Amino acid sequence: MSEVKRNLIAGKWSDYTQSKSNKNPANVTDIIGEYALGSEKDVNLAVEAAQQAFQNWANASPQVRHDLLDSVGNLMAARSQEIGTILAREEGKSLAEATGETMRASQVFKFFAGEALRMTGDNIASIRPNINIDVTREPLGVVGIITPWNFPIAIPAWKIAPALAFGNCVVMKPADLTPACAHIIAELFVECGAPDGVFNLVMGRGSVVGEAMLNHPDIAAITFTGSVETGKHIALKCVETGKKFQLEMGGKNPMVILDDADLDVAVAACVSGAFYSTGQRCTAPSRFIVQKGIHDAFVSRMKQEMSKLTVGDPLDSNVNIGPVVDERQLKSNLAYVELAKQEADEVFGGEQLELEAQGFYQKPALFIGTTNDMRINREEIFGPCASVIKVKDYEEALKVANDTDFGLAAGICTQSLKYATKFKRQSEAGMVMVNLPTAGVDYHVPFGGRKGSSYGAREQGQYAIEFYTIVKTAYTFAG
Ligand code: NAD
Repeated sequence: MSEVKRNLIAGKWSDYTQSKSNKNPANVTDIIGEYALGSEKDVNLAVEAAQQAFQNWANASPQVRHDLLDSVGNLMAARSQEIGTILAREEGKSLAEATGETMRASQVFKFFAGEALRMTGDNIASIRPNINIDVTREPLGVVGIITPWNFPIAIPAWKIAPALAFGNCVVMKPADLTPACAHIIAELFVECGAPDGVFNLVMGRGSVVGEAMLNHPDIAAITFTGSVETGKHIALKCVETGKKFQLEMGGKNPMVILDDADLDVAVAACVSGAFYSTGQRCTAPSRFIVQKGIHDAFVSRMKQEMSKLTVGDPLDSNVNIGPVVDERQLKSNLAYVELAKQEADEVFGGEQLELEAQGFYQKPALFIGTTNDMRINREEIFGPCASVIKVKDYEEALKVANDTDFGLAAGICTQSLKYATKFKRQSEAGMVMVNLPTAGVDYHVPFGGRKGSSYGAREQGQYAIEFYTIVKTAYTFAG
């Protein structure tokens, strides 16, 4: 058996008592590796190491912080094929998507390397004579990072990089399904000479490692991406223990298709947005809200294009859609397909696929003839499943689009400047796309949602500084 991959605590690969096999969802006989399962004690040691490293790191020249993040970004890019292959094997997205995600993570590290040098403050005239006011930003201390499995390298990157760029130290817990990518990040930090304790990795269960992080008094802030249920729990715990927190959670993203839409553009956006990455993207559109004049043509083209999608091993370059991440998620998706058979007029696709390899394969599903009050349109499925809701006009489309507990991303396909402009203003989502899939964002601009999808400061781009720093106002009398 291969050597167990360990947690990184205080710059050392630490001892472990328990471990878990990391299995490829495309073929469960393919074991990616054996990974340590951390304990409360590991969290305590990691926080202590991060605290000890904090003063030096926070006071280090921004050039030092820049150089570390830049080196990690460069190394990641240089190894993107190898890392992408591991990502595809552990998470199940296609190799092209997995390599693309690795390159994105590398860009994020390099962007925040630059942000370390661009930290600014304000100098403001006082209302009193001979007094100067400086407003500066300082790091928070130890930041706890808790991430999901669906973007196992990009999401950690967009949390770790700004945390470190602005002078914090990190204790990170990746999703238990995807420790390999997180371990690679830790390896890169070691290879690039990160000072001991600046970046600590504790892999393991949410109920053990995650809970220990939430309970730890010396973690100043928690940045979380994952499900609404876990997010709500984290919020309560952070209030109790006085931590700053930021939550990115689920979505039930609408895509409006008006009669005047370019059908090719609309169908391409819906197919790639809803079904690529096996629909396991928080920004995937899952409610197609289609005006009545284009409805039948849209449905028929969707069926045509969906029939061309190949589901299979993500390492096969002919495959568009890999497996569902695990058996539990597959069962949940299939239960929603059964529910759709009761709720919708028609269900196209959605069946489990038995391929030669023992994996969790499912055909993309389209639920046709649905209404927005149905459970399939209210609950996040997080699989390759989307519904069609027929509407009369733009006003009804907007109402349906906004009638949801979530508010992460929303899209509209139209050639009308008037409706595109109105939708950008009237949508109750954090991110709005016109003639583009709702999934697929840039890394140098803010990312986040509203309502049940997000809580707290935005992630990514220059806005990330808001979460990872605290403002200080200093008055100087120079009379
Ligand atoms: P999840 O909530 O089950 O797990 C997320 C992380 O929380 C994991 O690391 C998990 O181990 C940890 N966790 C679980 N219980 C915990 C506890 N009691 N204390 C502390 N940590 C705990 O989510 P998931 O299944 O990994 O990811 C899928 C979800 O993530 C979907 O709902 C999806 O929409 C959401 N997501 C959102 C975004 C976004 O930016 N809005 C991006 C990607 C995924």
